[in-house]
Amino acid sequence: MKVTQLFTKTTKNAPTDEVAKNAQLLIRAGYIHKEMAGVYAYLPLGKRVLNNIIQIIREEMDGVGGNEMSMTALQSSEPWKSSGRWDDQVLDVWFKTKLANGTELGLAPTHEEPLTKMMKNFIHSYKDLPVYPYQFQIKFRNELRSKSGLMRGREFWMKDLYSFSRTQEEHDEFYESVCEAYTNVFNRLGLGENTFKTFASGGTFAKYSHEYQTLSPVGEDTVYLHREKGIAINEEVYNDELLEELGIEKSQLEEVKAVEVGNIFTLGTKFSDPLDLKFTDQNGDSKPVIMGSYGLGPSRLMGLIAEHFSDGRGLVWPENVAPFKVYLVSIGDVATEANALYDELTSNGVEVLYDDRDERPGAKFADAELLGIPYRVTISQRLIADQKIEFTPRVGGESELLTVSDLLGRIT
Ligand code: ATP
Ligand code: MG
Repeated sequence: MKVTQLFTKTTKNAPTDEVAKNAQLLIRAGYIHKEMAGVYAYLPLGKRVLNNIIQIIREEMDGVGGNEMSMTALQSSEPWKSSGRWDDQVLDVWFKTKLANGTELGLAPTHEEPLTKMMKNFIHSYKDLPVYPYQFQIKFRNELRSKSGLMRGREFWMKDLYSFSRTQEEHDEFYESVCEAYTNVFNRLGLGENTFKTFASGGTFAKYSHEYQTLSPVGEDTVYLHREKGIAINEEVYNDELLEELGIEKSQLEEVKAVEVGNIFTLGTKFSDPLDLKFTDQNGDSKPVIMGSYGLGPSRLMGLIAEHFSDGRGLVWPENVAPFKVYLVSIGDVATEANALYDELTSNGVEVLYDDRDERPGAKFADAELLGIPYRVTISQRLIADQKIEFTPRVGGESELLTVSDLLGRIT
C-alpha cells in the first residue's frame, strides 16, 4: 500500500479526554478513531492489526476442531429469560432496545443463551456430539467505566468458542486442548512470557475457571504469581486452602497487576438444563449436554500489545501482528527505483507500506516509528549509486546498508 492512498494521517496529539496510552498511541498513529468513550472504529491500519490477531486465533481454534460461524448481534429476550440472565440485576451490562412494535431486544453481550437454543436444532443424538462452534463477533456491554482504551470497550471484538460434549471426561479433554491452543495464541502474539493461566472463580459446575492474565502495570486485576512454577491465582480465589492444594507458600508469591485476555469456563449444564438441550445416549437415555465456554478478546489484545510494545517514539508491533512488515521511505527524486523495489518486495510476499509522499525524510522517519512497522527500508540517490538500501529495524534502531538480495534474505 502507498501512503498517498491511505486516508488516515498521523497527528501530534490524541484527544484530551483519552487517558489510556494504548488508545492515545493508536489514535495518533491513525489506527483507530474514537467515536465516544469505550467505542472505537478500526481504521485501515488498525483493521489489518485486528485481522492479524484474529487470524492467529482462528488457526488455533480450527486446530482444536472449532467450527467458525457468526451469530446475530440483535438477540431475542426469550432464551435469556429462560436462563434468568435477562434481568438487569443479574447481568448488569445489558444494552437493550425495542422493535417498532414494542418487542424488547438485547444487543449481544455474549452468546451462551442464543447458541444453546440454536443448537437444539442440530443436537439430538450422541452421534451429533461433540461439537465446537465459535465466532469472532462484536459484543456490546454497558461497562460502568471505560477508561482503558481498547482494553475495556463498550463495543468490542470477542472470540467466543463453546463446547458441547457428552460426558465430563470428553469435556475435560477438550478443555485441556483449548489451554494448549491458548498458549500457542499468546506465544504467537509475543505475549507468551508474560501471560499466565490463572485460577479464577468457577461458578456452580467447577471449583475454578481459568483466566489468561497478562502482566501489565495498567491491569485491572490483581493476581498472585509463582513465577518459577508458572502458577497464578486471581485474588478472588486466593486462600490458604488453594495454596495448600497447589503445594505453594504465600512467601513464594508476587502480587502483580494483570489484564485478563482470555477466560475458559466449565459450564456443565448451567445453560443446557434451563434451555432444555438434551441428547439421546447409546442406551437410548436422554441426557443434558455438557457445555464449556472459551473467550478471548482480540480488541483487548490489540490494546494490550500496543501498550506493552511501545516506546517514547511510538508503537513497536511484533512482526506477527504488524499491519505491514516494511515501511519503505524514498528520499528525493527516486520514484522509479522506489517503485521497482516496492514491486520486488511485494512480489516476494513482503507486506510493504511505501511512503511515497513529497515530505521531508525526518517526517517520514518519525511516522515510520510512530506507526511501529518492524523494518524501515530507505532508498535515495546516494544509496542507489552504491547499489544499497538502508535497513533499520524498529527495535534497536541501528541502521545497516544492505543489497536488495541481502534485504530479502533478512526479511523473507
Ligand atoms: P472482565 O472481567 O475484564 O470484565 P469478563 O470476565 O467479563 O471480563 P468474558 O465475559 O469472559 O470477560 O469475555 C471474554 C473475553 O473478552 C475476556 O477475557 C476479554 O479478553 C474480553 N473482554 C471482556 N470484556 C471486554 C471489554 N469490555 N472490552 C474488551 N474486551 C473485553
Ligand atoms: Mg472476568
